[in-house]
Amino acid sequence: MFLKKHIHTFQPVFKNYLIMKQVFNFNAGPAILPQEVLQQAAESVRDYNNSGLSILEISHRSKDFEAVVNEAVTLVKELLNVPDGYSVLFLQGGASLQFSMVPYNLLDEGDTAAYLETGVWAKKALKEAKLFGNVNVVASSGDKNYNYIPKNYSVPTDSKYFHITSNNTIFGTQIHKFPESQAPLIADMSSDIFSHPVSAGKFALIYAGAQKNLGPAGVTLVILRNDILGKIKRAIPTMLNYKTHIDENSLFNTPSVYAIYVCLLTLRWLKSQGGLTAMEKRNYEKQALLYKEIDNNPNFSGTAVKEDRSWMNVTFVAKEPAIEEKMLKLAKEANLIGLKGHRSVGGFRASLYNAMSLEGVQRLVEVMRGV
Ligand code: PMP
Repeated sequence: MFLKKHIHTFQPVFKNYLIMKQVFNFNAGPAILPQEVLQQAAESVRDYNNSGLSILEISHRSKDFEAVVNEAVTLVKELLNVPDGYSVLFLQGGASLQFSMVPYNLLDEGDTAAYLETGVWAKKALKEAKLFGNVNVVASSGDKNYNYIPKNYSVPTDSKYFHITSNNTIFGTQIHKFPESQAPLIADMSSDIFSHPVSAGKFALIYAGAQKNLGPAGVTLVILRNDILGKIKRAIPTMLNYKTHIDENSLFNTPSVYAIYVCLLTLRWLKSQGGLTAMEKRNYEKQALLYKEIDNNPNFSGTAVKEDRSWMNVTFVAKEPAIEEKMLKLAKEANLIGLKGHRSVGGFRASLYNAMSLEGVQRLVEVMRGV
């Protein structure tokens, strides 16, 4: 009886969801997710696996949820070729907490870590590391408002680790060839994880806030090689110690149950679409179409150096303020949202994460042509 009432009350909401108007979401994050994922996520809020309970109500200690975590870990390992000896964790605190957790766990007082400064997020990461040890900024693109990826720098071999940001969400640049490094390589992949094939074995640690290519905000994926831990002298608070979460399979305390579940749905979607090789092809086509328009359209110009252009966050500016205004108006009319650029670059930023269709980019290009 209770269950029937429960379903009856919520059904109209679910129906409305199905007839929602179609918008193309170019936001940088939280960002677009696949429609199939959203539909199943919505259904699970109403009734999870015919259990009569919402996913929001189930215990994180239940068999059902343990299965969610285990399947999510397995899919991450499969999609990113994670070798044996690595752990996959779903933590809280965003990518921003990883800025501190990485040096807290890996950098002793007097040690030096190398950082590549390619934007605002990289800068925030290295600022935190300075609280724990010495930081060596091996190169920076700050001289040109981070519109390129520095090359030809060297990383001292005694660096405890080398930290890079694989994709610079704000400035629209991306590392297209990962650096060779003697020091353990650590990457903030928040805004391009799962967008193309990556061999996790190349990295000592990878982290990513979920809210771009993986799921909703509230969970952070961390992949790390177990043998990098246990090498420092300082005491680490329990919740900030990677070992705690490895030992407890991300279930030391109550995790972001729903966010992890939606990540699982996205990981299943990724696999069903053909995995990361298929994503790379899809993302190649989208960015090629948009950058071609930016280069050919006399009203716009790209802000990032061509060879370092991001496939995920395409940044461009209008050549005149009137054009910028008109473009924003036309985009709104065409249901293209989230195109306004970050204040430190201005103009426009079109985020083309995995779930963005080629059709969405075609619409954007049509709008640019109509300005
Ligand atoms: N790193 C990158 C590359 C980002 O784009 C962001 C957020 N957009 C962050 C870190 C910070 O992530 P969070 O908000 O999850 O702390």
